[in-house]
Amino acid sequence: MNNNFINKIIKKSILKNPHDKIKTRFPPEPNGYLHIGHAKSICLNFDIANKYNGICNLRFDDTNPKKEKIKYIDSIKKDIQWLGFKWHKKPKYTSNYFNKLYKYAVQLIKNNLAYVEELNKNEIKEYRGTLTKTGKDSPFRNRTIEENLILFKNMKLGMFPEGSMCLRAKINMKSPYIILRDPVLYRIIFSEHHQTKNKWCIYPMYDFAHCIADALEGITHSLCTLEFQDNRQLYKWILKKLHFINKPPKQYEFSKLNLEHTILSKRKLKKLINSKLVNGWGDPRLHTISGLRNKGYTKNSIQMFCQKIGITKQQSIVELSLLEACIRKDLNMSSPRRMAVINPIKIIITNLPENHIEYFNVFNHPQVKEMGTRKILFTKEIYIEKEDFSQKDKESYRGLVLGKKVRLKYAYIIKAKKILKDKKNKINCILCKYYPKKIKKNIGIIHWISIKNSIPAQFQLFDILFISKNPEKQDDFMQSYNPNSYILKKGYIEYIVYQEKVNQTYQFERIGYFLKKTKKNKKKIISFNRIVSLKNKHRSFI
Ligand code: ATP
Ligand code: MG
Repeated sequence: MNNNFINKIIKKSILKNPHDKIKTRFPPEPNGYLHIGHAKSICLNFDIANKYNGICNLRFDDTNPKKEKIKYIDSIKKDIQWLGFKWHKKPKYTSNYFNKLYKYAVQLIKNNLAYVEELNKNEIKEYRGTLTKTGKDSPFRNRTIEENLILFKNMKLGMFPEGSMCLRAKINMKSPYIILRDPVLYRIIFSEHHQTKNKWCIYPMYDFAHCIADALEGITHSLCTLEFQDNRQLYKWILKKLHFINKPPKQYEFSKLNLEHTILSKRKLKKLINSKLVNGWGDPRLHTISGLRNKGYTKNSIQMFCQKIGITKQQSIVELSLLEACIRKDLNMSSPRRMAVINPIKIIITNLPENHIEYFNVFNHPQVKEMGTRKILFTKEIYIEKEDFSQKDKESYRGLVLGKKVRLKYAYIIKAKKILKDKKNKINCILCKYYPKKIKKNIGIIHWISIKNSIPAQFQLFDILFISKNPEKQDDFMQSYNPNSYILKKGYIEYIVYQEKVNQTYQFERIGYFLKKTKKNKKKIISFNRIVSLKNKHRSFI
């Protein structure tokens, strides 16, 4: 964040105008939940304000009542606060300025810079032309100012149906910038607005409202994503024609965040949610802020990620492993180590007496000694992971194999002697012998839990939602849905975890970082989310 190109621009403007306060804004449309791409923009805008002792406004860009909802406003506020940022004073709404915006539109009409259009949507599109074909003037372009004023007023009074008319800026139908070919400024929408209720039936377009709201709030640097690059021409045109000439806000663009294996577009997220392939906006497999929070991501990890990706104009797709490295880094120091077996198989140690009980005192964290120690129990019957046992030896396999030895972490070496199977030929348990001497030997180490020290638990394992690296680019992104993106495992945890608080994070040794989601109650067993596995590419469950 420190030396990106936007920071350089800000430093320059401070040198030029040392007494001006830096003012930024984050302008979400309340038509969905925030995602990690929004976090990039939030971190940029709020960090700049914090760094230069300026302010950052939260402004709901609420110009389309058809798509907006109060629940989105609430979720957006909650997510920004959770990320650790504080907007300046009360949240603002573009709808706060509807009266003013209307007056500015009238001013443009009076200056012969806007007119009421009666071509329909398709005709407007056709007349607009393309990059290679210049546009042509609408037959309604040359109405008189008086006629335009009356029609616009009647539009406001609700005298015309939706889609029958709109207000357009009168700029240049031959401009090389398509955005300047008489863009639409106002349209008719008969929908109740969450803030202004039924007061309005005409609503300003984003391009008209945004620059004016920025100017009215005294925003100095209006930071947006690259797809608005051409819109900057219109941004400047509107402010100039409305005489916002005393230090008008300036727009700067940076590239959007794209993340491997994910969908971030709200339109596509809605499609996914409606298809019920995920469980709402907060599904832990989504990279929405609420999804990440539910999974167990921390605000620190998201902030760290936004710092690492930086701010540029390059369009790229960021590796998921970068985000995962950030959450591992944040959880590594704060999460106590425990043992859990998520896919259990029973081991009976034949050379131990039935009632053998032995305690090992182990550190809760290998580096953070302040986290103290705990006692783990060693008894005749234990659980290990199924994946840590193989009937046949494989190259570079470090688990338990018939006739071979392995070390139980913090405890003894065992050797597998015999497999006991049930009637269906399924492995029931493995008989092992243990070696009481704790000798050092270069053999594999596996985790385990004494059955006496274990309590049942379930583990929700999340994986990438899309197999394709860039599902946004696919014609039908749903085709790339990963049916194994959610797996529920039933296993065991150390008893001590049962007593600890909900929302505690752990590193379950050799498996990954987990979040305790629920307590045990009459109906449910304790449930954990896997936040992230321990290694990068290894996406199976251990
Ligand atoms: P979407 O394409 O997901 O619907 P949007 O741009 O329409 O997103 P807004 O609510 O308008 O969503 O976004 C608010 C702010 O967040 C804007 O300034 C926008 O540029 C920025 N933003 C949105 N998506 C990203 C992203 N992927 N990376 C960085 N900034 C983003
Ligand atoms: Mg948008």
